[in-house]
Amino acid sequence: MPPASLAEIARDALLHHLDRGDARPALNLALMALAQRLGGPCGLQALDADGQLRWQEGPAAAHPVPVAELGQLRGQLWLPWPMAASELAPLLPTLAALLHHEAHAQAEAQALARAPAPAQPPPVDTPAALLRAALAGTDTFAWEWNLDNDWLGDIDEGLRLLGYTRQELGHTQEDWNRLIHPDDLAANDEAFQRHAAGETEIYEHSYRARHRNGQWRWMLERGRIVERHPDGRPRRVVGTQVDITERLEAERVASEAVQRLQQIARQVPGMLYMFELERGRGGVLRYTSERGPALFGLPQVQVQADMNTIWRLIPREDQRRMYAAFETSARTLADWTCDFRVHRPDGEWRHMSAHATPERMSARLTRWYGYIEDVTERVQLDQARRDAALASAANRAKTEFLSRMSHELRTPLNAVLGFTQLIQIDQADPPSEGQQRRLKLVREAGEHLLSMIGDLLDLTRIESGGMALVIEPVGLHEAAAQTLEMMQSTARLAQVTMRLQEGGEALLVQADRTRLRQVLLNLLSNAVKYNRPGGTVTLAVRAGRAGQVQLTVTDTGQGIAETDLRKIFEPFQRGRQSAGTVEGAGIGLSVTQALVALMQGQVAVDSELGRGSRFTVSLPVAGGPAPPSALQSAPQSAT
Ligand code: ADP
Repeated sequence: MPPASLAEIARDALLHHLDRGDARPALNLALMALAQRLGGPCGLQALDADGQLRWQEGPAAAHPVPVAELGQLRGQLWLPWPMAASELAPLLPTLAALLHHEAHAQAEAQALARAPAPAQPPPVDTPAALLRAALAGTDTFAWEWNLDNDWLGDIDEGLRLLGYTRQELGHTQEDWNRLIHPDDLAANDEAFQRHAAGETEIYEHSYRARHRNGQWRWMLERGRIVERHPDGRPRRVVGTQVDITERLEAERVASEAVQRLQQIARQVPGMLYMFELERGRGGVLRYTSERGPALFGLPQVQVQADMNTIWRLIPREDQRRMYAAFETSARTLADWTCDFRVHRPDGEWRHMSAHATPERMSARLTRWYGYIEDVTERVQLDQARRDAALASAANRAKTEFLSRMSHELRTPLNAVLGFTQLIQIDQADPPSEGQQRRLKLVREAGEHLLSMIGDLLDLTRIESGGMALVIEPVGLHEAAAQTLEMMQSTARLAQVTMRLQEGGEALLVQADRTRLRQVLLNLLSNAVKYNRPGGTVTLAVRAGRAGQVQLTVTDTGQGIAETDLRKIFEPFQRGRQSAGTVEGAGIGLSVTQALVALMQGQVAVDSELGRGSRFTVSLPVAGGPAPPSALQSAPQSAT
């Protein structure tokens, strides 16, 4: 509950006094409420005319404020820090009245103690008159109702509150009832009857009373039967009435504001909070918005009630950082900002980002209003971006290294091949037949190495985005026929039969002529390489789905294990062939796939171990017939 206002403190103390007829507890109540409001201890002293201490409540220290003098007694209020009397204006008259009442009671008690000498009451007003004086200006009046003659006493202030003069209204309950809203009459009566029947110690209810200006005012009535007839019938009732119209309106406005804030707090993704840190006593979360529990994976009550429940979820090193930041913020009153981790009860680690604005409440107490949001996804994304940047830098370095190494290898290799060829054809000093055979082996091995280096260079060029293609309509069937022709001699050596199925002759694809031939050569050479003597390789071209043309290369070779199917398109992955006898570097299919992708197509494979494989290349169809030049420019044979 928020601390009471000074006017509320005054009113509560007076009502308390009215109920009990004892000023001392009422003064104590006022002091306690004041201490809560000011956030520090408060005391009250009463001095007599000679400056002698008559009594003291609470600690006498710090900063005194004089309480208005009444009669013989002088009061002094002690506050935790200096305040002007004008700041305490709503409270001081009430304190003075109560103080005086207390002095009067003490004087009576002393007089009694000095008996039999007749008591000399101090020259002060009667308690009732004092009370009336104290209540004036607090929108409250005290009344008395004598049921024997239906006489309402002391209602002048009430009439004044509602804008009437004494002459305008009679002094009976019935007269007063004429001011009450018809809808509230029954409830009024019921509250009194229940009290009269002994069901309630005090009767209390609110109702609407008509002001002379026609407005309805809300009144809060509290009353007590103070005297009964011997047969139990009520005889005298006393009570108070307070005009609570403004208070109700203020409550309505406050409640609307709270509802609006709650609505906003419900919509924001993080948690709004109010946190207090008192030197020497630690921190308390005074308020957390609805999203708090979800944020920390806790039930709402735990977030509200026990700051430690959250604190325990935060790693110690983060706690230390947060606390140090709080201390700095409390000292400098600069905003508090902190990122920290939370290990939620469900085991998940989350990243939080918090921000709060401090307000100094007293020398020891600082309060922050802030917002905590879960930034785990953002942190992860940042991390992923950093990782990706690192990986891409590493990949660039690798590509650069491969590219430079291939170039460096190619130069001496070309020299080896060139000199081998020169020796082979040297007329002046021709090599012997045995040397010719060995030179042929050197040349074949060198050429194989050169083609592998070529593939490697292609791969690095594609990866670095340096491969430029010339995309134009190309007759796919025609290109397949030419490649098949180029592979014919190799196939014969391997005792593999190759054929191109009829159909699809008119189909054109959007492709780079040279790179398409490279793709077909790769697939055909694999189909022959991984085949068996007596096996076949079949090529077919046909229109595919969604504006694509498909070329399939089907072989009757050894097939590919299911677990290898995905891997074989990655560089240097050779599947079960890495332990096999067929030569290769595992680059061909990676280059093939990358080239087809550059031409906006896809490569797919399906295979069965021991029965063969089928590779399917899909490329975008090109409109119109293939230009004749495209067919003429293609090489007829590579051997
Ligand atoms: P390489 O042939 O140099 O090993 P590739 O990238 O061309 O490299 O092929 C990768 C792997 O895929 C081969 O090592 C082989 O295991 C498998 N493979 C490719 N084509 C076929 C095929 N037609 N039949 C069986 N296995 C194949």
